[in-house]
Amino acid sequence: MKKLICTLALAVMVMSCKTTQEKTSATTINEVKVAIDLKNVTDDKVMVTITPPTFTTETATFHIPKIIPGTYSEDDYGKFIDNFKALDTNGNALAVSKTDDNTWQISNAKALAKVTYLVNDTYDVEGTHDIFSPAGTNIAANENFMLNTHGFVGYFQGKNEIPYTVTVSHPATLWGATSLVDNDPSNEVDVFHTPRYAELVDSPIMYSKPDYTTFNVDGMDILISVYSPNGTYTAKDITPEMETMMRAQKKFLGPVNSTKKYSVLLYLSDMKKPDAKGFGALEHTTSTTVVMPEMMPKAQLLEQLKDVVSHEFFHIVTPLSIHSKEIQYFDYNTPKMSEHLWMYEGVTEYFANLFQVNQGLITEDEFYNRMAEKIEASTRFNDKMPFTNMSKNILDKQYKDSYYNVYLKGALIAMCIDIQMRESSNGARGILSLMQALSNEYGNNKPFNDEDLFAKITALTYPEIGAFLNKYVAGDTPIPYNDYFAKVGVIKGSVKKPANPFLKGDMPYITVNPATKEIMIPPGMELNGFMKKIGLKNDDTLLAINGTAYNLDNIYELIMSSMDWKENDPITIKIKRNNKEQTLKGKVTLTMEDVEGLHFTDNSKAKIKEAWLKG
Ligand SMILES: [Zn+2]
Repeated sequence: MKKLICTLALAVMVMSCKTTQEKTSATTINEVKVAIDLKNVTDDKVMVTITPPTFTTETATFHIPKIIPGTYSEDDYGKFIDNFKALDTNGNALAVSKTDDNTWQISNAKALAKVTYLVNDTYDVEGTHDIFSPAGTNIAANENFMLNTHGFVGYFQGKNEIPYTVTVSHPATLWGATSLVDNDPSNEVDVFHTPRYAELVDSPIMYSKPDYTTFNVDGMDILISVYSPNGTYTAKDITPEMETMMRAQKKFLGPVNSTKKYSVLLYLSDMKKPDAKGFGALEHTTSTTVVMPEMMPKAQLLEQLKDVVSHEFFHIVTPLSIHSKEIQYFDYNTPKMSEHLWMYEGVTEYFANLFQVNQGLITEDEFYNRMAEKIEASTRFNDKMPFTNMSKNILDKQYKDSYYNVYLKGALIAMCIDIQMRESSNGARGILSLMQALSNEYGNNKPFNDEDLFAKITALTYPEIGAFLNKYVAGDTPIPYNDYFAKVGVIKGSVKKPANPFLKGDMPYITVNPATKEIMIPPGMELNGFMKKIGLKNDDTLLAINGTAYNLDNIYELIMSSMDWKENDPITIKIKRNNKEQTLKGKVTLTMEDVEGLHFTDNSKAKIKEAWLKG
């Protein structure tokens, strides 16, 4: 009987095992489903519901990123999450403990059926955090939503390599601009699939009243979407210049790039309201988010977009394609940084300048001016700080403030490598060919080891490049720029540049009375030619220019519009002098400043210079 009992017990066990197995295979969920509700916005917050994968562990850990790729800064996106709840299938709350700004630990995870939370946006509270606007979020009900997805959607620890399905319900009047494919025909529901969390983070979506253009550049579909709160600009306004620029970029890059779709999401910020203030852009593999002030005059906006969007687009080469293991296996909550920011940001920024002279969008002199400005601006940073070291430790307080130098010295490092390669190869090869060689070697699914990169580059180029990298990038020796310029016949000398009426370099000619917010000309300061000619004096208060009243609140607007002034434009300035209002009338005169610049003078180097800039 024992046997029977045994047999019976065994049969029951096998059956139950089988049943359990069947049950498990039938209900095991191995994906993350996300619902984002943009229709019912309450208190400026968006409700997010997450259907988790099946957990077999007692606890589950949910993270919102502390950091995302491309920002090189720990910004704690979890700080914007409220009312986090974990629920079982009956809607009962499971115990949750918040262990840091970005982490929630859920008990009894096997019973977890749903996670819900509210998301606050970052744009209307800038100043209370350090999130760079192109990586931030906007929630303006029925008007605009900037879904930088990492700000809305988190991941379960150990489950970020599984597929995500994101369902966004939105007002029918708003349209989602993104490179993701919408799998739902309804105009109030969008359904997006990504194979893993990283690709969701790499795919921002901007919802606004549809204002976009599309065009194709050599097989690549481009989408330009614009949100302009006061209707100042439309996508059409910027498309011709963007198209010219992107054609030139594609031509410059050649076969390195095979992107099929690329979206430019431009958010124009209303400077008169609490709104985004971090201008610039963030790179993604198939798109870029760009934030600019809406009040910027058109010529300037186009100029900035040309530089900024081309920079982001070149990021497709690095780090989006060529990158180290730190980036491939990016940890959103305990990040490790790579040593090679000189390449990710420096080479990218250099390309964004080089392609313009290469493709005739700027003149050679303009290119030299840009490089001279970078040299000048980089002197504000410690020139002896090894770049690799700074890069590896960029999240530390001690190095954080040096970050901006990646756009300056980083680009100059790339320029010197370019010049050296031209010299070593008799003009035949430049840094673009190095990046082509690296992209054959590495790519989206094949990262390099940080410590192997210099040896690999040396093997792909010349011993002089290896020596340069070790001495000037990993070492603490400042780069002798003049020696590199001499190789291409360029020498330092003074050049004339029109000065801004209100700025001398970075130093303003105007100040603000903090008590009244009025803009005034400080006492004792030497006036510039423009001020003297129009009749401004020390201690004058500037009330209005050309009919627009100015004070501290719109001082940026004043500076920006002044950048657009041309010689001999008529100008009217209303001032207060000795407590009496008066009006000064005249014409704009722009003083020419002598600044240190660069000239091509050595004709014996004409051939190598041509190869460098036009090759
Ligand atoms: Zn960049």
